[in-house]
Amino acid sequence: MKWGLIGASTIASQHMIGAIRAQDGNAVTSVLSSDADRGKAYAEQHSIDHAYTDLDALLGDPSIEAVYISTTNEKHHPQALAAIAAGKHVMCEKPLAMTLAEAQEMVAAAEAAGLVFATNHHLRNAGTHLKIRELIEQDRVGEVQAVRVAHAVYLPENLQGWRIDNPAAGGGVIPDIVVHDADTVRFHLQEDPESVVAIERSESLGKGVEDSVMSVWQMPSGALVETHEGFTVRHAGTSFEVHGTKGSIFAQGVMTQQPVGQIVLRKDGVDEPITFSEHNLYERAMRHFMQAVAGEGAPAATGVDGVKSLAVALAVKDAAVSGRRVTVDYGEV
Ligand code: NDP
Repeated sequence: MKWGLIGASTIASQHMIGAIRAQDGNAVTSVLSSDADRGKAYAEQHSIDHAYTDLDALLGDPSIEAVYISTTNEKHHPQALAAIAAGKHVMCEKPLAMTLAEAQEMVAAAEAAGLVFATNHHLRNAGTHLKIRELIEQDRVGEVQAVRVAHAVYLPENLQGWRIDNPAAGGGVIPDIVVHDADTVRFHLQEDPESVVAIERSESLGKGVEDSVMSVWQMPSGALVETHEGFTVRHAGTSFEVHGTKGSIFAQGVMTQQPVGQIVLRKDGVDEPITFSEHNLYERAMRHFMQAVAGEGAPAATGVDGVKSLAVALAVKDAAVSGRRVTVDYGEV
């Protein structure tokens, strides 16, 4: 299958071109950039045959069957709708869109056209998170009472562009990281957050957008989820903890793009180290995408998963701005 990249992005460069090329029979043949020189240089750097500045021209290539959209967040919606109208399968970056209605429109359009549409939530593809899910499923922690997510990091300098100063492009730590945490919590608990409270802050990097947020989510089962996302925290490391009536899972360094981390299952004061697969997260996501295109199962994170993670992030933003407890609005999904 031939792929077109919509967006000459860092994430495509660092992870997704390799993840596509790792799948048998798949090739990246085109890239779209708004800047002709950057597009050409990007294509040369990554051995991509064609660089376009016009979306319709890229989509007009009948040999391209799928696109990977990794432009800034406000562009995902129009670009996805155009790709779907041109009959292409879509792997779309998170957050799917700026509003819930836009994200729903994208997913509905793909469904109506019979095309595969996936959200690139990488964490549920990690060996660590697959193992945590397995421990919960096997009732090793009992009834889940609480989850704590520590996902406050220091944003690398090369990513300190639109993320820290451009709300119109979807900047801010809430659209950037809360969506991932929402997806990961939904994956583990197999339920959707009901309501949230939150406090945000613009501490040092954020100009016109928040660079730190803490929130608490109420799950339908009664479990409470506490999350911390940030662009300004240099030394904390990341973690994901699940606390249940029979045991607790402590997973360190697992909110990451790399297949790394440590997991311990604690019961009655005894810590059991847990091993996990160390496969590439993005390659697994792409493998599931290809299988879905072949009619075998669903993508690892579907379009509906992307709609729901966005719904949680929008509720966290609303709660932080209003100071109120906000019921998550998932719309019609
Ligand atoms: P980048 O800033 O690298 O790329 C976004 C856009 O910025 C590109 O489409 C490009 O525009 C433009 N751009 C890139 N480099 C330059 C440059 N040197 N000068 C001027 N403009 C430039 O963003 P990311 O790769 O970090 O993020 C892209 C998307 O992917 C976002 O939606 C983000 O949320 C998501 N993402 C997802 C991750 C995941 O793990 N799922 C991880 C990281 C990001 P053009 O295409 O027009 O050339």
